[in-house]
Amino acid sequence: MVDLLPEQTCCWQATEEIARNHFLKAGFHEIRTPLIEVTDLFARGIGEATDVVGKEMYSFLDKGDRSCTLRPEGTASVVRAVLQNGLLNKGPQRLWYGGPMFRYERPQAGRQRQFHQIGVEYIGAGNARSDAEVISLAWRLLYELGLDNLVLELNTLGSSEDREVYKSKLVSWLEAHVEEIDEESRNRVNTNPLRILDTKNTQTQAILKKAPSLMDSISDESRQRFVEVQELLEALEIPFKLNPRLVRGLDYYNHTAFEITSSQLGAQGTVCGGGRYDGLIEQLGGPPTPSIGWAIGMERLMLLLGMYAEINPKGNAGRLKKSVSPDLYLINRGLKADKFALLLAHKLRAEGLIVELDNSGASFGKQFKRADRSGSFWALIIGDEEVAQNKVKLKSMKTSSPQQDQNNSEHLYDLTDIRGLINQINHKDSTNL
Ligand code: ATP
Ligand code: MG
Repeated sequence: MVDLLPEQTCCWQATEEIARNHFLKAGFHEIRTPLIEVTDLFARGIGEATDVVGKEMYSFLDKGDRSCTLRPEGTASVVRAVLQNGLLNKGPQRLWYGGPMFRYERPQAGRQRQFHQIGVEYIGAGNARSDAEVISLAWRLLYELGLDNLVLELNTLGSSEDREVYKSKLVSWLEAHVEEIDEESRNRVNTNPLRILDTKNTQTQAILKKAPSLMDSISDESRQRFVEVQELLEALEIPFKLNPRLVRGLDYYNHTAFEITSSQLGAQGTVCGGGRYDGLIEQLGGPPTPSIGWAIGMERLMLLLGMYAEINPKGNAGRLKKSVSPDLYLINRGLKADKFALLLAHKLRAEGLIVELDNSGASFGKQFKRADRSGSFWALIIGDEEVAQNKVKLKSMKTSSPQQDQNNSEHLYDLTDIRGLINQINHKDSTNL
């Protein structure tokens, strides 16, 4: 588990803000659920046969002897909250969430034990158009963040009936080839056979080429639905690549499954994973309710933004990585200046400015160096002499032309006219000083 330091949190905040606005524009509203749930929710909502539930959960007994778990993902909690609060009575729910998730995995680049996701769930929507809308929500968000060479991989799992037909075909085939596949896959034959298609073991992958294909077991109706999703994505000008190996292992997943991947992240290439889960709400005790959602891994997103920013510092990703500098660095020294500067900082902040107040009492020269390091555009200088005259000296820290010498890059402002000072600060133009 890692700390996020101020030099990182500014990019996180900028990204989160873009995501928030993006969701708001599409009519998706935020839901915040507890970080801890009873373990049973995930056992039923994700499935005992998955790695997440089988191996990766942080579970513990609380003081009331209940088995509790730190949430490993968001969907199960969101569905629980929707059911418990009767939200479905108000019609389909367009929801988004964000925050930390916990999985006991082997930590590596792009894989942590506490990581963060932002995700959406469109609960109560069953048509192909909702698939396209939800996918485009992820695609456009990543594009808006400056990530313009990701790959959208798409597959269909068919209806739940299609899956059952395919599952039994696949299991009989696997049972006949059980000696040839890797041990992990062998263990999944009876628990989570579809997930074997997703194996990273290259030998098993080669053998699976001869296995019955999911596409051949899919009904005409499901196939037509998948075509419709693809046509809508084409209409939205969202490029995609069909990937018949892309599966979600569990019974309540059906129809569209998708991932958005990057070739720049090594083995942890999936930035966003999602799909339709028409059977989940029923599984968790609700009425049959078609739904679709996705989750983006924030750490992988941040890694990518860092790479893009390095290549193109002036692009969208570059702008996100830039830390926010103060509008003003307040240099102050002297007994009277001390208090005066504190009050002035307060006033200027109330006017919406970002003001960093030097608290060192060091020499003006040292304070100037700090002002420079702060990245601030302006320095405001207050000594006892200025206090006596109710004036402050404003100096640009970004004197661009060599002709702008010491004298014409600073200006005295009378504090009875604080508006004039604020206007000048907001202008970020020192040529008229
Ligand atoms: P993977 O195959 O990479 O383990 P997953 O199928 O377990 O992914 P999901 O449960 O679909 O992942 O979660 C959605 C997204 O959350 C992933 O695509 C990834 O970006 C991110 N994610 C999942 N697990 C982690 C982790 N341990 N650390 C960082 N990000 C993660
Ligand atoms: Mg995983």
